[in-house]
Amino acid sequence: MPRTLATLLLAMTASVPAAAAFHVQDSVQDSVQDSVQDSVQDSPQDATAPRWLRGNTHTHTLWSDGDAPPETVIAWYVDHGYEFLVLSDHNLLQKGDRWFDVAEGGRLTPAKVEAVAERFGEAFPELREQDGRTQMRLRRLDELQAMFDRPDEFALIPGEEVTGSFRLAQIHVNALNVDETIDPIRAESVQATIQANLDAIAAWGRAKGRPVLAHLNHPNFRKSLGYRQLAEMRGERFFEVYNGHRSVENERVGDRPSTEEMWDLALVARLHGGAGDGELLYGLATDDAHDHYETDAVSVPGRGWVMVRCDAVDPDEIVRAMRRGDFHASSGVGLEDVRIEDGRLVVDIDTDEGVAYRTEFIGAVRSEDGEAPVAEVLASTEADPAVYRFTGKELYVRARVTSSRPHPRPYAKGDLEMAWTQPVRPPGTGDDDTPRSDTPPTIDPEPSESDR
Ligand SMILES: [Zn+2]
Ligand SMILES: [Zn+2]
Repeated sequence: MPRTLATLLLAMTASVPAAAAFHVQDSVQDSVQDSVQDSVQDSPQDATAPRWLRGNTHTHTLWSDGDAPPETVIAWYVDHGYEFLVLSDHNLLQKGDRWFDVAEGGRLTPAKVEAVAERFGEAFPELREQDGRTQMRLRRLDELQAMFDRPDEFALIPGEEVTGSFRLAQIHVNALNVDETIDPIRAESVQATIQANLDAIAAWGRAKGRPVLAHLNHPNFRKSLGYRQLAEMRGERFFEVYNGHRSVENERVGDRPSTEEMWDLALVARLHGGAGDGELLYGLATDDAHDHYETDAVSVPGRGWVMVRCDAVDPDEIVRAMRRGDFHASSGVGLEDVRIEDGRLVVDIDTDEGVAYRTEFIGAVRSEDGEAPVAEVLASTEADPAVYRFTGKELYVRARVTSSRPHPRPYAKGDLEMAWTQPVRPPGTGDDDTPRSDTPPTIDPEPSESDR
């Protein structure tokens, strides 16, 4: 029988008694444990196969402009087989005491509080009356990690969406594995603002001796950024090629390139033209979820994610693997392996029966006259594994796999499930896909001392 908020209020005081808290902890861990075990049983792992961890690095909660308490958000990802999650609220970490109004028609309704009580135990929601209003305390990052982190099964990676702007350009950069607030910086231009924020995140990581990662978000959101901005990034080289929020315009609009076309334009500018630091640029898929109670809304969980090749469910190790480029972006297609072998790029697809998979190898081939090449589809196949043989003349090659299965929670009507591998250079041509280092090599501004 559903409980009303009034009975919830009667049943508890503002602070949870120690015994009740202990019981809540157990029941939360039990339910997390149950769902993790279910997902393991559903997909048994071959002991010799590479281990791929599924994670989303871009999610919002009630701490900023999401519509759900953080525990509700995290539980969805745990239930759906993710091994890691970043709560990337705007310009803050989930720290300190934060009480949120519970109100019909508000962002936190009595029904949402009841759902928390149902999932985590009646004593779990901490409620109080304040100036005639009912409020619930939002759980802090440290409490959420204690609730959900499980060795080798799930890690909540601290993070923030560093949210700034320059004039009309929205400049949002996600900071992963950062557990203090990094304030957005505005510099003298769009490019300088992007770079200053990337550098501030990298500097924080260096100051703390901790691997961190900064990714530039949704470049087409409000027509903010062009491929030149991606091309000119230095030190950090990660961006969202797919963001599940329906207002970010991943797709081509008029003569404005899609985010995927921007990726190729930026890659050619970097690798041929020497833009930025001349390094490969890596693409992520993310949810940017704000709407956690619906399956078809502006930004719901489960639209896009990354698969990271990593043996340990550990924030530092996951970030290191991503810094190496050892991950792919997905909106539904899983890959068993991506490797360079005997002069070929081999993509092993995790296929399902009755589903077709088309793999396109996209890249740019150096021209004889030294002109900037144009990216194109170099080869296409429906085979598994999909194999591309390098000629050695490519600047880079990346693979895009499109399945015949419709996305169950599409960004746009008719979207099919897809995967995007990271670009690689032909073997034996300089750096190929070997990372330079695990830690960001940028020039630092003064590291911020305070956590404001
Ligand atoms: Zn954003
Ligand atoms: Zn966001």
